Amino acid sequence: MAKKMGLVINTKRCVGCKTCTVACKMENNVAAGLARIRVLDGHQQEVFEKPTGTYPNLKLEFVPIPCQHCEEPPCVPVCPTGASKKREDGIVYVEKEECIGCGACLAVCPYNARQMDNEAKKVEKCSFCMHRLEENKAPMCVYCCPARAITYGDLNDSNSEVAKLVSSKPVQQIKADQGTKPAVYYILP
Ligand code: SF4
Ligand code: SF4
Repeated sequence: MAKKMGLVINTKRCVGCKTCTVACKMENNVAAGLARIRVLDGHQQEVFEKPTGTYPNLKLEFVPIPCQHCEEPPCVPVCPTGASKKREDGIVYVEKEECIGCGACLAVCPYNARQMDNEAKKVEKCSFCMHRLEENKAPMCVYCCPARAITYGDLNDSNSEVAKLVSSKPVQQIKADQGTKPAVYYILP
């Protein structure tokens, strides 16, 4: 069976430190102001100003959002140049040389996982650190997360950590009703 690369993100472990965001930016040379993985709080905000719930039952919740590497990615067929691609192993990526910065893919992503680098006129998005995978290394966010909140691997390999988590934990896909079949699973708060 072909590989299907994916993540399990345990939000119960996430402390909202944004090390994943920063480590990814450094690894992938992401432009100032942009992020390939955003961490949102319970109000869907990137700046954490207030908890959710009512006193005295207040909570701080954090949900890291990278590209979901959808099995049915609307961002791929909409690209007029073919720059937005999906590999055999399910990884969705952008061939920067072919990107003309038209923004068509941004408009159809239900997860706001793509951002426009206005200076370069190219789209930024998570690639699961494809260059690291070639060396059998995990994506930088996975490697650097101090809370070990993100697990990476082949969802089609029943012996992988991600497959075991998906089969044994109450995981959910975000916006599953959109029909894009995300390869990122969440253990939600
Ligand atoms: Fe959460 Fe880990 Fe990212 Fe920190 S590095 S925000 S703990 S996922
Ligand atoms: Fe495309 Fe958005 Fe799905 Fe990523 S999360 S594959 S950018 S539709």
